[in-house]
Amino acid sequence: MGFVPTMGALHEGHAALIRAAKEATSFVVVSIFVNPTQFGPNEDFAKYPRTLDADRDLSAKAGADLIFAPTPAEMYPDFSVTVVDVTKLDEPLCGASRPGHFRGVCTVVLKLFNIVLPDVAVFGAKDAQQTRIIRQMVRDLNVPVTVQVEPTVREADGLAMSSRNRYQSAAERAVAPRIYESLQAIRSRALAGEWDVARLESALAAQLAAIPGARVDYARIVDDVTLQPLTRLDRPALAAVAVVLGATRLIDNVTIP
Ligand code: AMP
Repeated sequence: MGFVPTMGALHEGHAALIRAAKEATSFVVVSIFVNPTQFGPNEDFAKYPRTLDADRDLSAKAGADLIFAPTPAEMYPDFSVTVVDVTKLDEPLCGASRPGHFRGVCTVVLKLFNIVLPDVAVFGAKDAQQTRIIRQMVRDLNVPVTVQVEPTVREADGLAMSSRNRYQSAAERAVAPRIYESLQAIRSRALAGEWDVARLESALAAQLAAIPGARVDYARIVDDVTLQPLTRLDRPALAAVAVVLGATRLIDNVTIP
């Protein structure tokens, strides 16, 4: 059995995960659950898009056999008090600006694994820190699931597909592709021989800050495995960014090399 956990508002990125799960297994479950515990108090839980009918169609077309769409009360009965913390890996990047976010993610993903009992669970590379944290949880807690990670699916102009892209105004949507362009530029510079991480990070931050209306939450180049800071590009690295554009916080990443 294959499993694709999602929060709904599905797009072609999710469809690619469902197709990959269907290639790896013979029966695919898609969960659709906007998980309250992974949203901070000032985040968009209440207005996160909920599009169940369209999600059902997209999932079926991509090869899903079953949709699991529980309610928050079903997932979190009164007096639910156990949580999963993957320490260290949850400190940098999104963990720094979204305290408790990965605790919510890990807790719900482990609960979903225990309900669905999949052999293979498929996640997207767009959420780079999440994939590393889930792999670590599976390893540390001996969870009998194979984690598979699929590449980020992008719009034609390079913008990483996201359920939150629908919040963007036309002006924001027009400049949003510059996030991935900045990541690619920094990757090219690294491949061309610039090994100094501080120089690369400040160039990346400057390019992102030049996007009209953008506020850079973080622009980091870290160890691809441990997510810890690097000074020189002497091992596989992850360039990861979060940019607030208008009302929307967008994340993206590339690996180096
Ligand atoms: P979400 O419902 O968007 O929070 O994410 C559900 C799953 O879809 C996660 O594993 C995400 O990493 C993955 N995902 C979201 N956007 C994309 C994308 N553009 N390409 C590939 N996977 C994605």
